[in-house]
Amino acid sequence: MAEEKKIRIGKLMVDRALCIGAASCVAVAPTGFELDAENKAVIRRKVSPPSSDATLRKDMEDQTIDDETLLLAAKSCPTAAISIFDEEGNQIYP
Ligand code: SF4
Repeated sequence: MAEEKKIRIGKLMVDRALCIGAASCVAVAPTGFELDAENKAVIRRKVSPPSSDATLRKDMEDQTIDDETLLLAAKSCPTAAISIFDEEGNQIYP
């Protein structure tokens, strides 16, 4: 039986031009995302300030979030503003 490959997220980012501040991502993963003063989604990070820029999974503030939840948050975005990459840098979503 073929074993289903587990998702391994390496990096994620938010396209601020696409983000409309719908906050679905925040609802799905509140420890992963928040809205900034411009009502754009930013990724919560461990040491640096929250940002929409490409952020390594290991630099996210909440290391207990699972990859499925992050992927679900990206899929919940009505404009597909959240891009997700695997550890090799291949785009997983959208
Ligand atoms: S769900 Fe998409 S549009 Fe809504 S805040 Fe998050 S990134 Fe922005």
